[in-house]
Amino acid sequence: MPPTVLVSGASVAGPTLAFWLARAGYAVTVVERTDGLREEGQNVDVRGAAREVLRRMGLEDAALAATTGEQGTAFVDDRGRDIAAFPAGTDDTSGPTAELEILRGRLGQLLFDATEHDVEYRFGDQVRGLDQDANGVDVTFASGAQERFDLVVLAEGVNSRTRALAFPEARKQHLGMVIAYLTIPRQDDDTDWWRWYVAGRGRGVSLRPDDVGTIRAAVNLMTDTRGLDELDSAGQATVLRRAFQDVPWGAPRILDALADGAPFYFEDLAQMHLPSWSAGRIALVGDAAWCATPVSGIGTTLALSGAYTLAASLAATPDHRAGLADFEQRMRPFVAKAQSLPPGTPGLANPRTDRGRALLWAALRLAASRPAQRVGGLVGGALGSFGRPPADAYRLPEAPSAVAD
Ligand SMILES: Cc1cc2nc3c(=O)[nH]c(=O)nc-3n(C[C@H](O)[C@H](O)[C@H](O)COP(=O)(O)OP(=O)(O)OC[C@H]3O[C@@H](n4cnc5c(N)ncnc54)[C@H](O)[C@@H]3O)c2cc1C
Repeated sequence: MPPTVLVSGASVAGPTLAFWLARAGYAVTVVERTDGLREEGQNVDVRGAAREVLRRMGLEDAALAATTGEQGTAFVDDRGRDIAAFPAGTDDTSGPTAELEILRGRLGQLLFDATEHDVEYRFGDQVRGLDQDANGVDVTFASGAQERFDLVVLAEGVNSRTRALAFPEARKQHLGMVIAYLTIPRQDDDTDWWRWYVAGRGRGVSLRPDDVGTIRAAVNLMTDTRGLDELDSAGQATVLRRAFQDVPWGAPRILDALADGAPFYFEDLAQMHLPSWSAGRIALVGDAAWCATPVSGIGTTLALSGAYTLAASLAATPDHRAGLADFEQRMRPFVAKAQSLPPGTPGLANPRTDRGRALLWAALRLAASRPAQRVGGLVGGALGSFGRPPADAYRLPEAPSAVAD
């Protein structure tokens, strides 16, 4: 009998793990609490080691064919005129816009399509209870079903609820910033650049192109008030309207869309820090384990690389404890770098004072200037990548083959 694994969460980390475990001979079930694959989400970057994971899955060409076509990132002034422009990266690791920039929902669909025949997917259900002993984990589902698995891996994202069942010590570290994402109609003066307006008073507006004829918008706000993510949508829309009503660029059309009832995704940015990513036969992977937040720009890269590594580490040994320890030892340094944001992040890029904004704009102009780019892009690298660690600094293990017995 092949070892059985339950993976909870079908976004990026979950299906990637399922792909490689199934290839190694495990019997894999993926449970996702929503009724189908989630389509929402904006542009996410796939860089360095993660791109190699897609290559090894045979999905790189399909992912490249589905990129958003974003040409680069431009910081703009109150009237939408460029202050500093950073073209899309060509070396796969630098600059805010990656060469492989894809809508999260598109990437999720590619990963699902690559696994649906080898993995059992169950949508519209979720884990309610986990009870483990030395030989397995008894899982109770919300549907009432009960089943025993050799291993359970939670890939439920930063807001995982199941995590508390096995990792009661898990705590979020808030960054003091909320973001709302939504899709708005494209208009004639939109471009194929990610345009980013630093609005002052800790606020920002960003508009990004996609490849389906709409614009992916986001507004972000530095705030010391926690719990805004627990308000209902109407309450969150009121907070956003009050905060952005005097912002001249980008915000009026976003507030119009909100007033028209456009759905949005609201996030209170928080990192996850856990002393261990496994407890017995239950493990974590992706944002559920180590969320670095969107300001790190590397969450999807970590999820793809981490899920692949977990499968490789588990398949290499019949002892799950040794496999989980190996996974953690390989991934910890990469995750630690991704989570160690530069001092002042995200406040420095979202200044509250006019003086702070003037200094930031001056630094951005310098970073985008030819001389700065000639001296190795030092300033541009520091500002443009928001301290992201080089995604090609992580060396992937050998691809998982047959599970060791
Ligand atoms: C809808 C959505 C939109 C996103 N949009 C962006 C974006 O615009 N920009 C950005 O940088 N990042 C975005 N992200 C986050 C990004 O996908 C992750 O940072 C990164 O790709 C790591 O992915 P992950 O698979 O670890 O977690 P996630 O992508 O967060 O996926 C977690 C999955 O687990 C499912 N899930 C949650 N709880 C349960 C449960 N109890 N039982 C079963 N399933 C559960 C969720 O529905 C989801 O499908 C988004 C994530 C989601 C889910």
